[in-house]
Amino acid sequence: MYDIIIVGAGPSGLTAAIYGRRANKKVLVLEALSYGGQIINTLKIENYPAAPNISGFDFATTLYNQVKDLGTDIKFEKVIEIKDGIEKEVITTKGSYKSKTIILATGCENRKLGIDREEELIGRGVSYCATCDGGFYKDKDVAVVGGGNTALEDALYLCDVANKVYLIHRRDEFRGEEGLVDKLKEKNNIEFVYNSNVTKLNGDDKLSSVIVTDKEGNDKEIMISGLFIAVGKIPENENFRKLINLDDSGYIIAPENCHTNVEGIFVCGDARVKEVRQLVTAASDGAISATEAIRYINERK
Ligand code: NAP
Repeated sequence: MYDIIIVGAGPSGLTAAIYGRRANKKVLVLEALSYGGQIINTLKIENYPAAPNISGFDFATTLYNQVKDLGTDIKFEKVIEIKDGIEKEVITTKGSYKSKTIILATGCENRKLGIDREEELIGRGVSYCATCDGGFYKDKDVAVVGGGNTALEDALYLCDVANKVYLIHRRDEFRGEEGLVDKLKEKNNIEFVYNSNVTKLNGDDKLSSVIVTDKEGNDKEIMISGLFIAVGKIPENENFRKLINLDDSGYIIAPENCHTNVEGIFVCGDARVKEVRQLVTAASDGAISATEAIRYINERK
């Protein structure tokens, strides 16, 4: 029987584990893939206090080791269901675990464009991670689609790797930070393609070009060998919908104290309904959710 089971080993879940272990609670972290969550794909973190120049990988690895060294159990198993009761139960693809509390730190996954052949061409020109796959496109022409911070950061990274970068955005204003846009405008190998959507992927077994369609319905072919899709994230909470209240987009409904609609089940990080999804707010949620879980356990002793 655990005191706290944390579902997800991204920055919010791992921060929750630190707080849980420092309060001497028995903590299990369950992660479907690998530790670090989305931050692992960030080349350089520049907006986390007192860590002005650390890579996402180093940040995640340091955090993971910190959590392990504190004596947290960590298992790489996908959670498929949670059950409420006096003892809560977490069911994974490999087994089931009992706990007094659960913290959902399930984060988000990449949103797809939803166009023909997108799935088929993943790894053959279509990618959702510039820092993972950018190296394959050295001196080639590539495009990034999206207008948020991820798209801007991906484009900046790719400008230093690829021959030419097209940044395709469906509006003429970016959602991401102005500072990043300014940095991009200083690059001499970027072309901004505004008010346009990628509507077709061409190529036999590998991507060779995309068709973009502008607001007037005009099509243009752009010859590229890599398309980096950065059109936002979607939450991964459908497995919990029976028990936990989700909003229309699938985010877990919980106020700043991270309490879900079920007593003893908390949520932290990007999976929660919130305005600002950043590393620093993920860490903050991790601390709050664990503090609330610890209080819940101690009040029931
Ligand atoms: P995001 O901020 O939600 O931006 C998604 C972008 O994709 C938007 O520009 C959106 O266009 C566009 N888009 C959405 N669906 C589309 C579609 N079907 N076709 C074409 N374009 C589409 O997502 P994100 O950039 O992944 O960032 C997610 C969160 O992480 C944000 O809160 C972001 O600030 C944060 N983040 C922070 C950092 C950092 O602090 N270093 C780095 C990366 C991400 P519209 O603008 O027209 O809606």
